[in-house]
Amino acid sequence: MKQTIRDLQPAGQTVFLRVDFNVPMHLGTVTDDSRVAAAVPTISELSRAGARVLCASHLGRPQGNRRQDLSLETVATVLGDHLGRKVLFVPESHGPQVEQFVAGMGDGDVALLENLRFDPGEEKNDPALARKLAAPASIYVNDAFGTAHRAHASTAAITRFLSPAVAGLLLQREVTALSRLLGHVDRPYIVVLGGAKISGKIDLMESLMEQADAILVGGAMSYTLLRAQGLETGQSLVEEDQIEMARHILERAEAQGVELVLPLDHLVAPAVESDTATTTDGAAIPADLMACDVGPRTVDLFSRWIREAATILWNGPMGIFENPRFAAGTRVIGAAIAASSSFSVVGGGDSVAAVRQFQMEDGFSHLSTGGGASLEFLAGRALPGLVALAEKDN
Ligand code: ADP
Ligand code: MG
Repeated sequence: MKQTIRDLQPAGQTVFLRVDFNVPMHLGTVTDDSRVAAAVPTISELSRAGARVLCASHLGRPQGNRRQDLSLETVATVLGDHLGRKVLFVPESHGPQVEQFVAGMGDGDVALLENLRFDPGEEKNDPALARKLAAPASIYVNDAFGTAHRAHASTAAITRFLSPAVAGLLLQREVTALSRLLGHVDRPYIVVLGGAKISGKIDLMESLMEQADAILVGGAMSYTLLRAQGLETGQSLVEEDQIEMARHILERAEAQGVELVLPLDHLVAPAVESDTATTTDGAAIPADLMACDVGPRTVDLFSRWIREAATILWNGPMGIFENPRFAAGTRVIGAAIAASSSFSVVGGGDSVAAVRQFQMEDGFSHLSTGGGASLEFLAGRALPGLVALAEKDN
């Protein structure tokens, strides 16, 4: 039974490798290449083993149309720099041009196909497109953990047309690390949650309540919970339509004996861009001000929980960390997690970006590249990309 690329003997074979190169771009250049770097171990290993590697990814939301600003062409150069070898770019993702190109590939060659989402069939999980994507290859490898929560032609339907179909090293590493938070965990297990919105993280919270000993909540999502407790939240970001749901979360935590730890104080300002920030006396926020970060007493309280923990999951910044004035909560809480000897996982696009910005990567057991996919996995959902691989008997 073949499960990962380690079970393959791919010399001379063409591999369709689904990667997640959905990188941030600005004015035609890649502004953060960490997703490209994350796929390098799998690509190098396949190439060294003599495979002919066709990398495929989506970029942005072209909605089934060809859009030059969302072409993957520049990413091919970035990948080439990481691999230390030439990566050819094929301006199609399937069809005669790709097949002709593959006929000219040598063992160990690496190429990058054009944005999969230029074809409307990709997001529709269209089997006809999947068959065309599979046509030039004889092996399927999925290393796009960040896209595993989507049933798309290149992540799901394609496994019907290629055998073996196995996981790449990044996908394997993500599943192994995140699975450690789903089964038996060393206790105390605490979760640090933050970020802009509580909606979209309700499922995650409900599922984490089954597992964790405490959930510490900072960031804007804490204000909706404070409002549900009847506190004034001033001009802070609150999701009015989620207050009822927040009440339900508070009750449920109480019933299940999970500690839901909310901020004791905040850093507040008249507006995000203002240059005066003050600390509140308590958890309530003055009517004319907005909370932009957790306050010092909250940082102390959260740090004490973090020091005692054996397992920590962190998702969501504690404040508007993009603004240096409101970055302290995220930086100090992040540093406390990094300094602890716990098994620590950070997930979520912005949280991982904060960890990198503050150069705290080394302190974490696992930095999840998955964004939404990581959160769905941790909420206990079956991810279509993983299911498609698990259903193969290779
Ligand atoms: P992740 O990508 O790690 O899952 P989210 O996308 O949920 O995190 O949230 C990140 C965003 O939350 C950041 O852009 C940050 O500025 C914002 N945020 C955090 N705290 C606040 C706050 N107090 N007010 C407004 N926005 C906030
Ligand atoms: Mg985000």
